[in-house]
Amino acid sequence: MGRNGQIRDNGNDNEQGLSLKSKIKMKIRHGFVSNSSSSSYVCEICHSATEVYDTPLTEVGFCQCDYGHVFCLEHSLNQNAPVNDDGCVTVEVCPICKLKLISDRMFVDYTQKRIGISRDEMLKDIKNRFKTYKELIEYVYE
Ligand SMILES: [Zn+2]
Ligand SMILES: [Zn+2]
Repeated sequence: MGRNGQIRDNGNDNEQGLSLKSKIKMKIRHGFVSNSSSSSYVCEICHSATEVYDTPLTEVGFCQCDYGHVFCLEHSLNQNAPVNDDGCVTVEVCPICKLKLISDRMFVDYTQKRIGISRDEMLKDIKNRFKTYKELIEYVYE
């Protein structure tokens, strides 16, 4: 998929490099989960997750657009677009920013806004219609 051609070698492990990595981690909100020893990046498009130990995004085949969307490099709209050492790409190659795809979070928030029902109201509705979680998942996924 041309993915390897995209990944630039980030050989510098000096202090500046490390602080840049930290900045990326600070920037990532919805695509980032952290515990004491490791982190995992979750693709906002296909939801594949990669566990990393202080590893730059690019080394695990991920990138992040200027808007903070984290996704696999293979979803990039232009496989030849530059990826910098921190794994950042421009919004021009981000399928979410270019409205080619929608993230789950945006789907939920947009649906909520569009149909004008709050989370609490939806929960009430679910409670009224279903007695158990099993009934709910059968309705939603079957
Ligand atoms: Zn993906
Ligand atoms: Zn984006």
